[in-house]
Amino acid sequence: MPFVQHADRFCSWYSSDPADQIPVTPDWWGPAEETGWPHVGECRNCGERGHVWTPPPIAPEVRDNASAFARWMREAISHQAGRLGGSAFVAHRTEADVALMDWHGPTEMIMMEGANPPRRVLRCRECSSADYPCRTLRMAAAPYRFDYPGHRMEWLWAASSSAGGV
Ligand SMILES: [Zn+2]
Ligand SMILES: [Zn+2]
Repeated sequence: MPFVQHADRFCSWYSSDPADQIPVTPDWWGPAEETGWPHVGECRNCGERGHVWTPPPIAPEVRDNASAFARWMREAISHQAGRLGGSAFVAHRTEADVALMDWHGPTEMIMMEGANPPRRVLRCRECSSADYPCRTLRMAAAPYRFDYPGHRMEWLWAASSSAGGV
């Protein structure tokens, strides 16, 4: 979704036509644009002048943390499920946790909050208001840390920004 930056706020412009995604009408008297989108013009949302704004990509450390968590949890689940003499309880528990990982997988979203610049965030697909990993996944992952190394303290559910009164 394209955005327009004004002095005091941001606008978003949405069109379902993929060929009509330019959020500003360029000034006809302006300099010839190089290939690509015009960068300054009349905002198609509010009609005032503005700059095209593209949210920066998600920080590498946020991506790294998310993939490290997912990798660790898959390995820890496989380790637990593969132990000799495992009980029916463990077999069903690990199967359920694999399903939980799929349901509560990460998805990239663009957040608009007040006058702040729109930013990309990594969110849980299921609990759309929670960062990834969400509290559900953190709780599902926590018991595995007693039998599998590499779990990080920051993955405990109390560290989640969505945690309330835990
Ligand atoms: Zn505008
Ligand atoms: Zn979730």
